Amino acid sequence: KQKDRASETLFDTQCPFCSVQCTMQLVEERVVERAHYKVIPKDNPTSHGRLCIKGLNAHQHALHPERLKSPLLKVNGQFVRVSWKDALDFIKENFRKIQKYDGFNALGVYGGGSLTNEEAYLLGKFARVALRTKHIDYNGRFCMSAAASAMNDTFGIDRGLTNKLSEIPFARCIILAGTNIAECQPTIMPYFHQAKQNGSYFIVIDPRETATCELADLHLKIKPGTDAALVNGFLKVIFDEGYVDYAFVDEKTEGFAELKEHIDRIQLDEIAQLTGIAPEVIRFAAIQYASAQTGMVFTARGVEQQTNGNMTVRNFLNLVLVTGKIGKLGCGYGAITGQGNGQGGREHGQKADQLPGYRDIENEEHRKYIADVWGISENELPRKGVSAYEMMQKISAGEITGMFIMGSNPIVSSPNAQFVKKALKTLKCLVVVDLFLSETAQLADLVLPTSSYLEDEGTITNLEGRVTLRPASKIPPKEVKQDWEILCEIADVLGRGEYFRFSSAEEIFNELRLASRGGKADYYGITYERLRKERVYWPCPSFDHPGTARMFEQSFAHRDGKARLAVVENQFPKEQITEQYPLYLTTGRVLSHYLTGVQTRKSPALASRHIESFVEIHPNAAKKYKIENNTLVKLETKRGAAVVRSKYSYKIREDTVFVPFHWSGIQNINQITDDSLDPHCKMPGFKICAVRISPIVNL
Ligand code: SF4
Repeated sequence: KQKDRASETLFDTQCPFCSVQCTMQLVEERVVERAHYKVIPKDNPTSHGRLCIKGLNAHQHALHPERLKSPLLKVNGQFVRVSWKDALDFIKENFRKIQKYDGFNALGVYGGGSLTNEEAYLLGKFARVALRTKHIDYNGRFCMSAAASAMNDTFGIDRGLTNKLSEIPFARCIILAGTNIAECQPTIMPYFHQAKQNGSYFIVIDPRETATCELADLHLKIKPGTDAALVNGFLKVIFDEGYVDYAFVDEKTEGFAELKEHIDRIQLDEIAQLTGIAPEVIRFAAIQYASAQTGMVFTARGVEQQTNGNMTVRNFLNLVLVTGKIGKLGCGYGAITGQGNGQGGREHGQKADQLPGYRDIENEEHRKYIADVWGISENELPRKGVSAYEMMQKISAGEITGMFIMGSNPIVSSPNAQFVKKALKTLKCLVVVDLFLSETAQLADLVLPTSSYLEDEGTITNLEGRVTLRPASKIPPKEVKQDWEILCEIADVLGRGEYFRFSSAEEIFNELRLASRGGKADYYGITYERLRKERVYWPCPSFDHPGTARMFEQSFAHRDGKARLAVVENQFPKEQITEQYPLYLTTGRVLSHYLTGVQTRKSPALASRHIESFVEIHPNAAKKYKIENNTLVKLETKRGAAVVRSKYSYKIREDTVFVPFHWSGIQNINQITDDSLDPHCKMPGFKICAVRISPIVNL
């Protein structure tokens, strides 16, 4: 919506920088030739008119003069501006050559969790129908895949939060594990503050005392990577001291006998030794949660981005289930999504193993349904491909020779990022779609400019599973196209345009609704018309369905309606500290940056708050390794080195250092993070690896 009021233009939009999707109005005031901007927070049922520092400055990158404004083709190592026709001809010639000589599966597609639902849906269809490749995955593999697979395994469906946020104040005990909400999703903190005022008991599990720890009644400063063992300790207490909700367990779960047998073997003293948390503290925490009338458990990347993230989350879900704390007011589980469309981005088919509506790409019935919606034969629909990091390995092995990347920056976001950079350099053709010449785009043969959140109409599904419509309120620069237009035009030049005849995001959404119909993530009853008036929770199978705010009130999504308990052994990080690499390295975010910083580093107000990376280190550890405060230091793992500035902090364990991941070049901490993958969900071991630290004497 755009209203001209003399020299004032108003843009209604939603902040793109996290899964809360706060609403705002951007006001452009023109005085002669100069434009001034101000941001007015707007009410919505999730964030209630709140904005954090990122939202207040989200427009700065979208209006940045370095935004890409035309396609760029690399000629003799230099980018030159070309027309869209030349860009499309380049793709046609190069992708066809790869398809002819290397095969259809030699093309890979890499998406992102910030794309709208329509774009994520269309990208999945584009890979499988236009490019006819099985290789598509996205950066959410590095973000939500452990929680998603654990919820699928346990509940039979993956929806990030099982309850709406407004139920948090009704929870009498809240466990926050590996989640720093105060810095990553600040505008939902008032729900937790309200719970605190209502007398909730807060248990925070984190090796660092983050800003979120202000909520904690009990902070368990756990040894990195031992979260699953800690939960085994909780379960031991709950089983031994009679806190199991047998009525719930008998009626609604499978696998209790096996779990009980396993927990009977657990020794609390051993758990205490593994985790660094005293047995009486484990007992106290377990009883606080189990004995509370209501309770909620939240996890995030701290426990999920591990090589055993899937099983770790499954143990937290065991905890929720054996105490019967789900499907009721103030009782549930939540994986706090990070990316702007972290929830919706994973529902509509841009994952290697899934088709739209969370359909299984290897299920014949599901394949037939989607093939019919797409108007292709079932045989034409490719099978399951490989995960995001495995695609990079396939590039390195010469099996994938061409790549199409949309809205992602894997050179900075992948583990062992130097390997990824080297791999991408070997491609015969790399096409990147982005707002800026990101680190990954700089390696491309062709870069295509895309629209920003202000210009891009589409739906986003927030962390609660609530679908919202973000209007396109600003006209994009002249040569810039929306992601869906780019995909349709490429499909057309590749001779597959008949499957991509869309003229608006709404038309794509209507096909998505149909494709999701009857699937687990059912959007059929959600229309743009409805979204213009309200935000709707999925599943929503019909027009008169109110949407599903609280999941699992009656049953779970497995065929028999029961949730699955799992035996979870004490898990350990793949990489253990040694004499050579004596510290744990963990990574995370800071308040003013988003993902790899491609957008927030272009926002002066945000970038100036954190202009460079840093390593948080306990002063006692710093003394041991001769590290002065506020000096440049080298961090080394088996995979290489990064250089950042030291920052003393008593808030971190002495055996652990923390580095944020928003920077590139020598500061990019993902150059040295662990690329071992979780066997269940293929999540890399971002959160824990063994590192050594040394001062830089001469730069
Ligand atoms: Fe809201 Fe998240 Fe944007 Fe902050 S970053 S304004 S919490 S959507």
